[in-house]
Order: sequence, then C-alpha cells, then structure tokens
Amino acid sequence: MSEILATDVAIIGAGPVGLFAVFEAGMLGLKSVVVDALDALGGQCTALYPEKPIYDIPAHPAIDGQTLIDKLEAQAAPFAPYYLLDQQVTHLEPIDGGRFRLKTSKGATVEAGAVIVAAGCGAFGPNRPPLDNLSLYESTKGVQYLVRRREDFRDKKVVIAGGGDSAVDWALSLVEVAESVALVHRRPKFRAAPESLRQLDDLAKAGAVDLVVPYQLDGLQGTYGKLTGVRVATLEGEKKVLPADVLLPFYGLAMTLGPIADWGLGLDEARIAVEQRNCATNIPGVFAVGDIATYPGKLKLILSGFAEAATAAHAAQAHIYPDKLVHFEYSTSRGVPGAA
Ligand SMILES: Cc1cc2nc3c(=O)[nH]c(=O)nc-3n(C[C@H](O)[C@H](O)[C@H](O)COP(=O)(O)OP(=O)(O)OC[C@H]3O[C@@H](n4cnc5c(N)ncnc54)[C@H](O)[C@@H]3O)c2cc1C
Repeated sequence: MSEILATDVAIIGAGPVGLFAVFEAGMLGLKSVVVDALDALGGQCTALYPEKPIYDIPAHPAIDGQTLIDKLEAQAAPFAPYYLLDQQVTHLEPIDGGRFRLKTSKGATVEAGAVIVAAGCGAFGPNRPPLDNLSLYESTKGVQYLVRRREDFRDKKVVIAGGGDSAVDWALSLVEVAESVALVHRRPKFRAAPESLRQLDDLAKAGAVDLVVPYQLDGLQGTYGKLTGVRVATLEGEKKVLPADVLLPFYGLAMTLGPIADWGLGLDEARIAVEQRNCATNIPGVFAVGDIATYPGKLKLILSGFAEAATAAHAAQAHIYPDKLVHFEYSTSRGVPGAA
C-alpha cells in the first residue's frame, strides 16, 4: 500500500486560486497538499496564456499569466505546500472524524481535515483535429496546442488553425518571431476582437500572414516524425500543402469535470454550488473556490477566486478545529510565519 500523506487541507487544483488558498491556509497555521492533473503549477494562466498580460489583478496594472503564477508560488512557499502534479484526484470520500481521503490517478493517497476544490473547469485539454498520425507529430512537437514561450517559434514555419481569439492573437504575436505564419480557417470570417481583426487584415495585405481560407486541415506530412507540411482542403476537395515546422490547432478546449461529477457535490451546470459567505458545498468540510464555484452574482475572475480562497481557508479551519477560538488578524500584524 502506498504511503498516506496526512495534511490539514487538501487542495484540488494548482491554478491561481488553489495557490492562493495555500497561502491563506498557511496564514491560519494549516498545512496543504495540492494536487493537479497538469504537470506544472498555474492552471489556465500557465497552460493557456502564460505570456498574455492580465490587467485586472489589484495593484498590478499589467502582469502576464506566468509571472502571476510565479509570484503566487513564491507567496505560498513559506508554508511548504506538498505538490502532487501530473495526477488527477479520482476519489474523494469522507472518513472518520470529519476527515477526508483522496486518491489520485498515480496511486497517491491523501488524508485531510478539509478539502478545498479549486479545480477551475475541471480537467481540461485541447480539442484535437482528427488527422492521421497526429500522436506521432504531437510527440515530436510538430503539433502543439499551447504557446508557452514565443521564442520557441523563432525562425519556424508556423501553421495556425482556428478562427477564434487564440488563433488570431497567436498569429499576430508569432508573426514577430516566426519565419512564416499561415492561418487556416474554414470560413473567411474570424471571431476575434475588432482591433485584432484590423491588425490581421493589415498583416495579410502586407503579405506577412498567409490567410488560408476557406480551408480545413486535411493531413500532416513529414519525414521520420519531423513535420514538414500541413495539407489543407476546401469543402470541394481542392487540396494544397503548406510548408510547416509546427502546426498549432486552436480549436478550443474540451473541459470535463471528470471524477468531480461523481463526488455527490451539488452541481449547477457543471459548477459546484456554494454558500458565498463561506464557500461551503453540500458536504461539510468540502469547500469550492475559483472558477468551479458558483453562487448568485458570481464573477468568474481571478480576483473573486482570491477572496473566496481566504473565505474558504477560514471556514476550513473552523471545520478542522471547531473549538479553537480564532482571532482575526491582519497580515501586517501577524507577518508571514516562516518567511524571512
Ligand atoms: C485566454 C484567457 C484569458 C483570461 N484572462 C483573464 C483576465 O484577464 N482576468 C481574470 O481575472 N481572469 C482571466 N481568465 C480566467 C482565469 O484564468 C480563471 O478565472 C482562473 O484561471 C481560474 O482559476 P482557478 O484556480 O479557479 O482554476 P484554473 O486556473 O482552471 O485551475 C484549475 C486546475 O485544477 C486542475 N484540476 C481540475 N480537476 C482536477 C482533478 N480532478 N484533479 C487534479 N487537478 C484537477 C486543472 O488541471 C487546473 O490546473 C482568462 C482565461 C483565459 C482562458
């Protein structure tokens, strides 16, 4: 039997809100184990828009997704959270003493006094195009679904597929570093912000971005797994091959709540209904925060999630130590225990 990790709070999800919950729990003297299905901290910020500036984080006029996550990780660090990454929480069950047992897809077992679900939209992954040999080219990075660092695409022939904001925004961004950028969409009309569309139009007229419309992806070409071209076709069957080192399909995300849907938490359209005053779910001792939590008037913003993390941490402490009298203290009075 694998070792059992005992902790005060088990946090499901290491997105921005889960990370801030580590800090808030830590300020109340609670230790955290954090589990995430992704192999890196940061949830949507890291996986979907690491280099995009966020403008509505208080006191940061602009901060890009990855920098926000790096700062949240640093803020949580004094409390020595234990991170279990690259594994999904598959089971959650109450055990004796108001505690909970969680199991992960990699066989880890966590026992905790309270659980904070900060699972965003649940497990998420890209919608993959139905192309032959796709897995082969995914494994050689010929097909990628995320841009973690723009620099990785310097001097590359990039083919982007999709008609939404991500496809258009990355075409505008990568054109500054790539050798060539082609944007494939099945319709001439793109769904993106008007200013982005204006810039795209200018770049297309200047020949900097090749607008390949109305075409759909039809196949991948390469030698020994190295991508050399992307075949595209019209609905009428007219085909052509675009030279490519990398294909970036941006067909949106498939989001599934996954195992969370089976834990008996009150779901409201794939989100967990909580009481706003304490983020409590219908299971005493299980709290939900961030994008996955809903209540009347909920704003799905990072800053709302931060406030919910504070609320849930206090409620988790009251669940774990019902008899302990807690004096509310400002961080300025208390300092950060363990920090230099
Ligand atoms: C392109 C884009 C731009 C955005 N811009 C802004 C903005 O400007 N301002 C703003 O406030 N918000 C913005 N958002 C929204 C913001 O990113 C989300 O509100 C925020 O990420 C929610 O944080 P979270 O921690 O609740 O969830 P997430 O960031 O979604 O993280 C949840 C984590 O939980 C994990 N998880 C799920 N289920 C399990 C499980 N069973 N086991 C283990 N792990 C699990 C997931 O892998 C994920 O890492 C933007 C989103 C996108 C996509």
